[in-house]
Amino acid sequence: YNTLRFIFGDQLNANHSWYKEEDQTQYLYVIAELKQETDYVKHHIQKVAAFFAAMENFATALKQAQLNVLHLTLDDTHDDACITSLLTRLAKQYQCQQIQYQYPDEYRLKTQLQEFANSSDFNVSATDSEHFLLPFADISDHFKKDKHVKMEFFYRMMRKRFDILMQDNAPLGGQWNFDQDNRNKLKKTDLAAIPEPKIFTNNIEAILQRIKKHQVNTLGHCSATLLWPTSRAQAKQLLDYFCTHLLPCFGKFQDAMTCQSSYKWSLYHSRIAFALNTKMLHPMQVIKQVLAEFAARQEQITLAQVEGFIRQILGWREYVRGIYWQNMPDYASKNELEAARLLPDYFWSGKTKMNCMKQAITQSLETAYAHHIQRLMITGNFCLLTGIDPNEVDSWYLGIYIDAIEWVEMPNTRGMSQFADGGLIATKPYAASGNYINKMSDYCTSCHYNVKQKSDDTACPFNSLYWQFMHTHEARLARNPRIGMVYKNWQKQDTSQQHAILERAQWCLNNIEKL
Ligand code: FAD
Ligand code: SF4
Repeated sequence: YNTLRFIFGDQLNANHSWYKEEDQTQYLYVIAELKQETDYVKHHIQKVAAFFAAMENFATALKQAQLNVLHLTLDDTHDDACITSLLTRLAKQYQCQQIQYQYPDEYRLKTQLQEFANSSDFNVSATDSEHFLLPFADISDHFKKDKHVKMEFFYRMMRKRFDILMQDNAPLGGQWNFDQDNRNKLKKTDLAAIPEPKIFTNNIEAILQRIKKHQVNTLGHCSATLLWPTSRAQAKQLLDYFCTHLLPCFGKFQDAMTCQSSYKWSLYHSRIAFALNTKMLHPMQVIKQVLAEFAARQEQITLAQVEGFIRQILGWREYVRGIYWQNMPDYASKNELEAARLLPDYFWSGKTKMNCMKQAITQSLETAYAHHIQRLMITGNFCLLTGIDPNEVDSWYLGIYIDAIEWVEMPNTRGMSQFADGGLIATKPYAASGNYINKMSDYCTSCHYNVKQKSDDTACPFNSLYWQFMHTHEARLARNPRIGMVYKNWQKQDTSQQHAILERAQWCLNNIEKL
């Protein structure tokens, strides 16, 4: 072969122009399981299995399209120290003159491959992965290093640029954002209507054996069948299912949490992030399908649901990617609040008396999934309030979630949830007391702690920790006009009450493993 073309595990985009070239005889496509990729962080076992299964299916699909494909498993690559040594070995073996790859989405890999390209004896070149909506070259037009960019303005620009939900140059329905109509709590009467999630039963026994044989260190639980989509056809089925059954209530219950339904882990969320981030689905394909569903079922689906969903894909997803690339590599070491604590053990077991934390963590260990508000306002909020080192928090999120790839995980975790970037993403920390959790969930009713109490032994830890957080960071946060009211409320409380709250918070921090 003249050219070796390497496909990363998150580049399963069958519509890439690579595969549309007429003469394919000169190309050898390589897709490989690698220890380098299983070991850079401790991943959830379902995540490793899902990537391996999806890669295998992608290789099979390419073979069926008559392309020359080399699919390598850990059995074949266990002696290759890293991607670049594998590429050199294979290029020699197959007598290729050129090595080509699609730009990776992670800084770590991009640098590694760039260095390889500069030093290799082979002719190494890279091309776009043709996945994102905002071209890579345009990122610097909209994002500047160390500068806050308001997501809402970026999102409006994207709406106009791609002409999505627009009418006569104005937003459809007269407003850009329908958040106020969304975000309901699930009432008891809503619980029975939650649709059963679409799950798959992919047989992954052989993959699990390989993971074990090659001693890949993983976390979480896994059965012999995997519920996540591992092919383009399954990804499409999941999207179809979302459009038919979940979209009508997506925005309405976007922030809701419950522990009283069998489907408490999935609710009205699409769970397509893994399919999107591996590029089995294209963001515009998702947006177009949602718009078509909306057009066909205007009676059942409101604009608020559709806008709320599209904002996540066209807005947030593209936005965090811009923040990531414009601020790396410095972003990875940002720690504005100087947080230094270790994660307590229950992040790996779910064994805590705090019901909200138990629910979010147990579900994550069982399914490699939690929805946005569980990530942001339960586990993320807890780490923020207790001052966990952002490196610890990043590793946990990067490892545990099925959809976690650094370009999207890090801005969400370090930035949005931990405020470690000092406000490049969020204008204020997403810090909340038990009151918010009680408002958006039914977790508190069956909790060991009392959400109404702030300082006694039964008091919900989030309540005192919230005030302790605000108190500790007052010098930095009180200037923020969006937080000023909070401090006024604090000052209204009498000193003995303030004292008792801070004492309770200190007890919680000293006994964090026991909470
Ligand atoms: P839905 O709720 O159905 O939303 C639809 C889609 O919108 C998602 O699939 C996703 O592609 C996109 N989306 C929604 N919110 C965001 C966001 N904030 N940033 C980027 N895309 C978004 N998302 C990841 O894809 N990978 C991660 O590693 C990741 N880590 C996160 C860590 C923290 C601390 C937080 C607060 C959020 C994180 N998110 C991450 C964003 C979001 O929580 C997930 O995209 C979402 O929960 C995935 O589930 P879903 O597919 O059911 O999403
Ligand atoms: Fe969580 Fe506090 Fe509610 Fe318990 S009382 S579920 S710890 S918010």
